[in-house]
Amino acid sequence: MPDQPMMHAMQMDAPGVPLHRVERPLPAPGPGEIRLTVRACGVCRTDLHEYDGDIHGLLPIIPGHEVVGLVDALGEGITDLAVGQRVGVPWLGHACGTCRYCRSGRENLCDAPLFTGFTRDGGYASHMIADARFCFALPDGFDDVHAAPLLCAGLIGYRSYRLAGDAPVLGLYGFGAAAHILAQVAIWQGRKVFAFTREGDQAAQDFAREIGCAWAGPSSAAPPEPLDAAIIFAAVGELVPIALRAVRKGGRVVCAGIHMSDIPAFAYADLWEERQILSVANLTRADGIEFLALAAQAGIRTHAEALPLDQANVALDRLRRGAVEGAMVLIPQAS
Ligand SMILES: [Zn+2]
Ligand SMILES: [Zn+2]
Repeated sequence: MPDQPMMHAMQMDAPGVPLHRVERPLPAPGPGEIRLTVRACGVCRTDLHEYDGDIHGLLPIIPGHEVVGLVDALGEGITDLAVGQRVGVPWLGHACGTCRYCRSGRENLCDAPLFTGFTRDGGYASHMIADARFCFALPDGFDDVHAAPLLCAGLIGYRSYRLAGDAPVLGLYGFGAAAHILAQVAIWQGRKVFAFTREGDQAAQDFAREIGCAWAGPSSAAPPEPLDAAIIFAAVGELVPIALRAVRKGGRVVCAGIHMSDIPAFAYADLWEERQILSVANLTRADGIEFLALAAQAGIRTHAEALPLDQANVALDRLRRGAVEGAMVLIPQAS
């Protein structure tokens, strides 16, 4: 009997338990699905929230929702993709198409979604299965490693950026994978960007200035001028009242993450004068198509560091400590 073809992955069994390597028979794509050979998969803050038990998906799970892969097998009914084609798989892995949100162009709020690497297996793997309708074509100008961070940091960051509105002066709190991409978009569009980092994080402040931010400093500092809008990428609730006090009248504070520590009480005066607080949930496919085209047009350069897939635990630990410039990307090795 010939050897059965196998795949390998880094699997999460329970919160707080380090990921471990698993091997499985190579799955076959079902109707409407494709199988990918994973080329690169970004490590996102959300993966860390899963690991820390801040959010609860399916367990055990193969994490990873910034997946760049090559189509390896086509399920029944797939006519618009070909074997060998490069695609990206984002966080929104499936939406029902029939709920009130899907029917009104808000599939990001779908009542019955599947999320890649959270409620369906993701890209910390040599291979994965994806719903073909939720995969994106990727711009040619990005190699696999540099394309991966576009798929969540870029894409959900872009949804947050859009919700921030027409803000000529924009503050970004937390200067990691998402902020370093969105800062480039904003600067390319002629906006002034101020970067706020953890206290004493000189490296992140230097990085922000290198990218073209007009000012960089600690989150506790007042910006050189009031902000028209702020986006909070850090998972720190204390930043919400701080950002509210930094935006001018009518300004918006957008919370971009899936999880945040509790927001402390604050004076109504901080919200007064039509300041707004918004959260951003997930993405729509329209966001993805729009953002990926813009990323190519704006000549975005992602800063990404590649690590072998079996270093997934190291990557999560470094993300927790903030010891990353830009994004980290896992690369599966031949087994
Ligand atoms: Zn739906
Ligand atoms: Zn993510």
